[in-house]
Amino acid sequence: MTLTYDELAQKNKQFLWHPFTQMQDYLESDPLIIERGEGIKLIDVNGKEYYDAFSSVWLNVHGHNVAELNQAIMDQLQKVAHSTLLGMANVPAIQLAEKLVEITPEGLNKVFYSDCGATAVEIALKMAYQYWHNRGFTNKKSFITMDNAYHGDTIGAVSVGAIPLYHRLFKALLFQSHTIPYPYPYRHPDGEDPVEAMLAKLEALLQEKSEEIVGLIVEPIVQGAAGMIVMPEGCLRRVADLLKKYDVLLIVDEVATGFGRTGKMFACEHEGVTPDLMAVAKGITAGYLPLAATLTTDEVYGAFLAPYEEQKTFFHGHSYCGNQLGCAVALENLKLYDKLNLVEEVARKAEAIEPVLSELLTYKHVGDIRQKGLMIGIELVADQATKEEYHWNDRIGVRVTQVAREKGLLTRPLGNIIVLIPPLVSTVEELTDMIRIIGEAIREVTEGAVTTVHGEKTLQGSDAT
Ligand SMILES: *Cc1c(COP(=O)(O)O)cnc(C)c1O
Repeated sequence: MTLTYDELAQKNKQFLWHPFTQMQDYLESDPLIIERGEGIKLIDVNGKEYYDAFSSVWLNVHGHNVAELNQAIMDQLQKVAHSTLLGMANVPAIQLAEKLVEITPEGLNKVFYSDCGATAVEIALKMAYQYWHNRGFTNKKSFITMDNAYHGDTIGAVSVGAIPLYHRLFKALLFQSHTIPYPYPYRHPDGEDPVEAMLAKLEALLQEKSEEIVGLIVEPIVQGAAGMIVMPEGCLRRVADLLKKYDVLLIVDEVATGFGRTGKMFACEHEGVTPDLMAVAKGITAGYLPLAATLTTDEVYGAFLAPYEEQKTFFHGHSYCGNQLGCAVALENLKLYDKLNLVEEVARKAEAIEPVLSELLTYKHVGDIRQKGLMIGIELVADQATKEEYHWNDRIGVRVTQVAREKGLLTRPLGNIIVLIPPLVSTVEELTDMIRIIGEAIREVTEGAVTTVHGEKTLQGSDAT
């Protein structure tokens, strides 16, 4: 028996607690309930279609319900769904590891699996820490992170997180990290170069404390959850060089930027950087199944090789490490990248939509548009000239995305920043249509009949984050 929308909505509110969602608002809303997906569109239980313009939170690559990906899972399912990677192996986990080593920057030769971005980051942090420890550098115990960094929601990942709204509450539970600025050209004070300012702080910190610092973790080229903030060119390279000079590890979190999202297979490639550790997740299975990996060098891996009695083993693992279904669909996903020449296509399409996007800059309340590949943030401002931010209580991002949803497009804002992270296979025509809808929604909310009243109560299906 199929349930009606009303029955589903009632049970949804009765039984579910949604992530990053103020449930008090949600309980008053008409919840969106997805039934199926077709290409780059999602279809709700009432039959309404929407562009999946945020790739179901930055995951989706080839669209939904893709024949080849479905088949890869079904084929693997005929063999086995899961067996552990603790001390034993499986076929797709081996094949995928080889492929990941092949496509990631030169020097990353070892693959450690887990199941989400946060776990991939946790593993990178613990691996980096133990690497120094195993080598006898027991003073190395803290990390450097960057303002507004987001690395996932588990406690270790939150310890290197720096978004006050999400992280400050948990301070008492966290290990200490040093925070340096992340260059944010749009909001950097005039008369100072944001990259030079950051590098000066980094070098001062390294000079004083490198002996106690394990590594620096960074979202390379684009800081995602902070609001799609794009690093000026050359910045990552210079950070990497400084860390080398002071013998501090570079950990890159490519969870959002990896797998072609920025127009290169990995964002590090924009500047020819090879990190010591790299966390990947999101796009790895094209948005099909939870799988993640932490890659590292022979140098880091080698520090864990020792006689059994010395207990230098990496004592870390998760139930579903190297899950066969996830690895099988990831392999098929990467086959499709080759077949479609997808990464170059992303770069080409990203360039093609630049002029369409920049038209939005003529709108009264669009302050900045940031784009790297198909990773796009549109920052809305109360006042273009002064860059004055909208008040939190205006819920400006939430309201724009709510109107977009009515117009058949799904995305989630980051505060006042409207996000466009479409499936990588979206065509220029489809992308142009998505930008049209987003533009209309921005106009309606920021310039139209709807006025912005602080504290106004609106019925939203999602929460401003
Ligand atoms: C999404 C994200 C994470 C967390 O990944 P989950 O799979 O949600 O745990 C970590 N780092 C970055 C940069 C992300 O965008």
